[in-house]
Amino acid sequence: MKQGYTQIYTGNGKGKTTASMGLAVRALGAGLSVYFTQFTKKGKYSEIKALEDMAAALFSGKLKVEQFGVIRKVLSPFTDRDKEAAEKGLEKIREAMDSGMYDLIITDELNIAVHYKLVDKNEVIDLIKTKPESTELVITGRYADPDVLKAADLVTEMCEEKHYANEGVPARKGIEM
Ligand code: ATP
Ligand code: MG
Repeated sequence: MKQGYTQIYTGNGKGKTTASMGLAVRALGAGLSVYFTQFTKKGKYSEIKALEDMAAALFSGKLKVEQFGVIRKVLSPFTDRDKEAAEKGLEKIREAMDSGMYDLIITDELNIAVHYKLVDKNEVIDLIKTKPESTELVITGRYADPDVLKAADLVTEMCEEKHYANEGVPARKGIEM
């Protein structure tokens, strides 16, 4: 890619992770290489499974998938282990950027890692400011830091007008996870 930009999908409405996945699929269709990473999470969510299967079957060498979280009980607070995993994740993203191997780098839920102080926001701003011109960087997650938003080129806020979760509908496999 000649000129890459930094995109952020934030807000409290549904669609941030799925938008980033849609972009990954589109990029692969165009022959671009993709590094899809997920912060603060560990486990075979359906999106991770799908991307890993695609990487193995169709896009070997063009798609890499990695999670930078630790297994936690639902709603349990983040610990030092989460912090270590997130910091290690940022290092890996920096390495991947410098390697020039990927056109599109997606950091799903990195905003959450910043919000909960697992990583320093200045490190993320630095990542945006020093990324190679040819790399497209996508950051997702609620509660994006205003200074991180300032450093980005495209910001989309998913706004919750309605969500069936508020009516008690639990997260469904294949739709929310
Ligand atoms: P998706 O992964 O569906 O694209 P997202 O990445 O925008 O959504 P997250 O903030 O990562 O959303 O939230 C994870 C999941 O929790 C989403 O699927 C979302 O639909 C669901 N969710 C959103 N709001 C609520 C709520 N108030 N209660 C329970 N679950 C919710
Ligand atoms: Mg998400």
